[in-house]
Amino acid sequence: MVYKAEYIWIDGTEPTARLRSKTKIVKDDVAHADLPIWGFDGSSTNQAPGDNSDCVLRPVAVFPDPIRGGEDILVMCEVLLIDMTPHPTNTRAKTAVIAEKYAAMDTWFGIEQEYTFFKDGRPLGFPVNGYPAPQGFYYCGVGADEVFGRDVVEAHLQACIDAGIEISGINAEVMPGQWEFQVGPIGPVDVGDHLWMARWLLYRIAEEFGITATVDPKPVKGDWNGAGCHTNVSTKAMRENYDAVIAACEALGTKAEAHVKAYGAGIEDRLTGAHETAPWTEYSYGVSNRGASVRIPWQVAIDKKGYIEDRRPNANMDPYVVCGLITDTICSAAAGQ
Ligand code: ADP
Ligand code: MN
Ligand code: MN
Ligand code: MN
Repeated sequence: MVYKAEYIWIDGTEPTARLRSKTKIVKDDVAHADLPIWGFDGSSTNQAPGDNSDCVLRPVAVFPDPIRGGEDILVMCEVLLIDMTPHPTNTRAKTAVIAEKYAAMDTWFGIEQEYTFFKDGRPLGFPVNGYPAPQGFYYCGVGADEVFGRDVVEAHLQACIDAGIEISGINAEVMPGQWEFQVGPIGPVDVGDHLWMARWLLYRIAEEFGITATVDPKPVKGDWNGAGCHTNVSTKAMRENYDAVIAACEALGTKAEAHVKAYGAGIEDRLTGAHETAPWTEYSYGVSNRGASVRIPWQVAIDKKGYIEDRRPNANMDPYVVCGLITDTICSAAAGQ
């Protein structure tokens, strides 16, 4: 007998990479740890020229497939060149090196992925002409006049749980058709694997409903919230003492520009200073402050230990890039480098 393995990878689309996948039929006697490498046409994914088009897929994380069920699996892959070195678009490999270097500091990440459903060219819940009622009641709302797409969201949540993704919650967001799910807290490489897989499941489940989901950071221009990927982080030291929490906030401030540049295309349009954001040109941190770049949750200020929330990353960010950079900045400062 055989089982189906959906090999999923991140392509080379610029400025924001997309997910791709294809199905491999695997013999029953092949253990998940022994899944073979595979290839694809990199000239169709902006990862290779047509006259030298082969790229390599290497399995890095396996999840039960909640859609096909049975023995079938979803396989997160990294992309390699044919000499088996990481492809330039392989951001996971770079983060794995940083994670390994600072493994003793045990960084954890919890990411809040915001996204927006679209149907017929407009956000789900937007009328054919004009705009819905202004923001105010949609966030964590209930009722058919406030909530759009809950059936898709519930199906996605269950699929993530069945796939073993470390999903930690969901909520409706401030704009109609806009939602959030949270993944973590887990390590910097794992959170990337889980978040990318949760995104793939979101697009795949929404497909069943004839709806698209997008991580566009500013899906509607004007007085409507953008979509972010707040990134919560802690080291072992931060989970034990407040000085380390403040030191992490300060460390992020020393490299603010490099961070903003790596936090997703179009970030200037979202981090305007309005709509619960800090302007991208100014770094700030504060307790409970949703208008700061980095927020220290009130509970953390009271407990004098815990984690911080970097509110700047865009919904379209690459979690491997963001978590690698944050780990490097906070841990190198803590190590006195
Ligand atoms: P918000 O109030 O900003 O909407 P959420 O409840 O949506 O907060 O998200 C909080 C996130 O913080 C979750 O993803 C959770 O996994 C994460 N988190 C909790 N504790 C830690 C920790 N010690 N280190 C890193 N992340 C954490
Ligand atoms: Mn949240
Ligand atoms: Mn949110
Ligand atoms: Mn948040």
